[in-house]
Amino acid sequence: MSPPLVVQKFGGSSVADADRIKRVARRIARERTAGNDLVVVVSAMGDTTDELLGLAAAITSEPDPRELDVLLATGEHQSATLLSMALHGLGVSAISLTGAQAGIITDGRYGRARIAGIEPRRVQAELRTGKVVIVAGFQGQSARASDDTEITTLGRGGSDTTAVALAASLGAARCQVFTDVKGIYTADPRLVAKARQLPVIGYEEMLELAHQGAQVMQVRAVELGWVNGIVIEVLSSFEDAPGTLIREDPLVEQRNKVRGLAHDRNVAKVTIVAVPDRPGVARSIFDPLAEAGINVDMIVQNVGHGGETDLSFTVPRVELALAKKTLEPIVRELDARDLTTDASVAKVSIVGAGLHNAPGYAARMFGTLADAGVNIEMISTSEVRITCMIAEADLETALRALHDAFELERPEPLDLGSDAAAVG
Ligand code: ADP
Ligand code: ASP
Ligand code: MG
Repeated sequence: MSPPLVVQKFGGSSVADADRIKRVARRIARERTAGNDLVVVVSAMGDTTDELLGLAAAITSEPDPRELDVLLATGEHQSATLLSMALHGLGVSAISLTGAQAGIITDGRYGRARIAGIEPRRVQAELRTGKVVIVAGFQGQSARASDDTEITTLGRGGSDTTAVALAASLGAARCQVFTDVKGIYTADPRLVAKARQLPVIGYEEMLELAHQGAQVMQVRAVELGWVNGIVIEVLSSFEDAPGTLIREDPLVEQRNKVRGLAHDRNVAKVTIVAVPDRPGVARSIFDPLAEAGINVDMIVQNVGHGGETDLSFTVPRVELALAKKTLEPIVRELDARDLTTDASVAKVSIVGAGLHNAPGYAARMFGTLADAGVNIEMISTSEVRITCMIAEADLETALRALHDAFELERPEPLDLGSDAAAVG
């Protein structure tokens, strides 16, 4: 019988320079000594992806999506090869593979490709020869045919998805995501000093936190983990400490409270002032936005006066310029008075699987923000969250006030129980 297989993923800050790469190599060597087979997924070193995007932007304002993906994929090639060399230096047999060589097939959409399938034959063959297999994260190739395949990337944070997808495809015993914090917290620990590390979080709650901006796990990685029943452990690459398990959480019903906060600065508000209040107007605004691939989120239409109404909605901040370009002709066509935008806003969300059938949470959230002097510009809700849009300048005040109001720093007795059950 082959030894248990472990998939480990190391994020950008964990492999930011040569010393950190060597430290990761030592950790891998230890795991190898323990007798496990290892597939290791790496992100690009430090801020490499941002730097490559900056280089492309310095060349052209509209880089060709195909060339941009080939460029971005090199970031992960660099870290994968260097980690492999570091392992060789420790006498550990290892090989680096690009996403394509690892058999990661995507749907071919540049910049936001989805994994369509994995053919892990090469990975398995290398494992059988006793090598640690290092896979460049965040990328795959567009088709199975060898002649006209293209390199495609999986969207920001996509190495998380590479790792969980490989763990599912290879039937790994563990999937560990090493990062620069000790696990999943009740809020971003960089903004909320009192944030508490959670021993366990359910897939549904983690998915919602990720959706609402907690960048610690890419949304699709959590989705893939959930669908395939992969327990994901998020932990620090800088210290040996227990992490957070993302898995099915049977305690959710009894807990019935806010589990964590998420925030998102990648948001902008668009308002169309005084549009005619008649059927078909919303369609003529949102159809073109959808065609342009722009993700519209919160939408508020005010009560109409004198046959006119204001329509506000949010779009990702990075898509604001495209949204404006798309809407300007439509605003003229509809004879609306004005198109205004505000990019200095942010979203803050409370997330918890018990929220939908527990009264009082919305009132508490709004009251807390009011007491903290934070104005709410828009509100949206789902079964597992309540989100408010506020001024970006108020974000940290809002997060700290909400963290206190919902007593998130206080460990729950049930957490202790599930911790023991999960880690022990
Ligand atoms: P990596 O480079 O390892 O992929 P990321 O920067 O993508 O790391 O994600 C880790 C960061 O996510 C942390 O440094 C932290 O600031 C942020 N973060 C946001 N929300 C949370 C949360 N609820 N728990 C833990 N980290 C969070
Ligand atoms: N390097 C890519 C990014 O910065 C992918 C990742 O880190 O997961 O988004
Ligand atoms: Mg990440």
